[in-house]
Amino acid sequence: MGIDPRPRKLFIDGDWVEPALGRYFKTINPATEEVITEVAEAGAADVERAVKIARRAFDHGPWPRLAPSKRRGVLETMARLLAERVEDFALLETIDTGKPISQTRNRDLPFACEIFRYYAGWADKIYATALPPSPTGFGYTQREPVGVVAMITPWNSPLVLSLMKIAPALAAGNVVIHKPASWTPLTAFHFAQLASEAGLPEGVLNVITGPGHTVGRALVVHPGVDKISFTGETATGREIMRDGAETLKRVSFELGGKSPNIVFADAPDLDAAATFAARGFCVNQGQICWAGSRLFVEASIHDRLMEKLLVRVKEDWKIGDPLEPETQVGPLISRSHREQVQGYIDEGKKEGARLVLGGDRPDRKGYYLNPTVFDRATNQMRIAREEIFGPVLSVIPFSGFDEVIAQANDTCYGLAAGVWTTDLSKAHRAARLIKAGSVWINTYGALNIAAPFGGFKQSGFGREMGQEALQLFTEVKTVWVELGENP
Ligand code: NAD
Repeated sequence: MGIDPRPRKLFIDGDWVEPALGRYFKTINPATEEVITEVAEAGAADVERAVKIARRAFDHGPWPRLAPSKRRGVLETMARLLAERVEDFALLETIDTGKPISQTRNRDLPFACEIFRYYAGWADKIYATALPPSPTGFGYTQREPVGVVAMITPWNSPLVLSLMKIAPALAAGNVVIHKPASWTPLTAFHFAQLASEAGLPEGVLNVITGPGHTVGRALVVHPGVDKISFTGETATGREIMRDGAETLKRVSFELGGKSPNIVFADAPDLDAAATFAARGFCVNQGQICWAGSRLFVEASIHDRLMEKLLVRVKEDWKIGDPLEPETQVGPLISRSHREQVQGYIDEGKKEGARLVLGGDRPDRKGYYLNPTVFDRATNQMRIAREEIFGPVLSVIPFSGFDEVIAQANDTCYGLAAGVWTTDLSKAHRAARLIKAGSVWINTYGALNIAAPFGGFKQSGFGREMGQEALQLFTEVKTVWVELGENP
């Protein structure tokens, strides 16, 4: 299927390196359950090597010292090469993740190119400030790269979520060690190769693979790593914070979510609300951090919206081979993950929510699961409290503004929210009251490269995308100059 079947070695110092212990693990195509290829499993010696190389590249290499306009040039070339290879990357991402090609080709890859173009533009526009002068002196600040940044990334949108970190980090002059998720490492290697071809100096972008609790953890505790930029589960974020405490590691976290999507009776367009509600839990098989997995529906429009929603799910979200352009729903990432999601479906039935769609899996090879809708759920049920990370929606009827805002906020997460209403002040009051990093009004899941994205509460801290992401990868230095006596 056009994928190079040779094992993937580690990518360190611009070169492919055999893992020290000679171990490899398999990466599986979740649609066929077949092995795609084998991938190097890094050990302690490989982590040491990667950190040593990255340190050298940061402390003595050209990248952090390059004129910002030159850095911009390299990033622009990376964006151009990526745009030329959209088909290769889309295919690789689809085979590795099960995400339909309609999404990788038409959404992920164009967005990935946009990310690199956007941060290429920022590379020579990272301004700092001149401080208000005192009578005898003056000061200024400058933004310097943080240093060696280890990026630990998840499997659900591997390329896009990695580039959201790599692009701003490189633009600001940092050096990167990337540890992608073991289920989906392929595009990370492919991208590192592209970066070399684009002229990124050796050792500036390194990729090492292996289990999170060994390789990931070794990066987190390593004193030679200045910062951990992590996207993944909230529970893993907690572990990383604990493990990073000893070296006071800088961290930024994009974690889990259980986002409320609230449809008021005065929503401008119930058809649109139904379309986006379906998309909010079906896209990428619901394996999205911002999934609108709690759909709050005002009681007076409940039946009408439910009818439309079920039609939309059945008509718009066709299960199939992810390589077929018309497929909208592919397999989940793995057998074990599907079992976990099925466990939640069983739990939802036991808790008394009304199963109105799905709950089972199609009769085909691959880790598929039918989109599943529970109606008449309550916000106290486990299916409404815990991140399922699968195509499972909990519909919760409500009857008043204060009540629904309280329920929307009654969660440990705070990543995103949707609000559907024609009442301008109600929309903005809701946006003000909901504790979430992004609030979408009369839409859901609108991501824009210029719009900062991240979590309140246990959904993380720090904001990726937009100008904000540059803060994550720079340190502020104050320089103060004493002029002597009052001139
Ligand atoms: P995960 O936490 O299991 O794994 C993420 C990465 O961390 C992997 O590379 C893994 O190998 C590594 N890891 C695991 N344990 C580690 C440890 N102790 N130390 C260091 N590294 C470790 O998450 P996942 O299952 O790959 O991804 C799904 C999760 O990611 C969901 O909770 C989802 O909401 C979240 N996510 C958040 C965002 C966001 O922007 N907020 C985006 C996408 C995914």
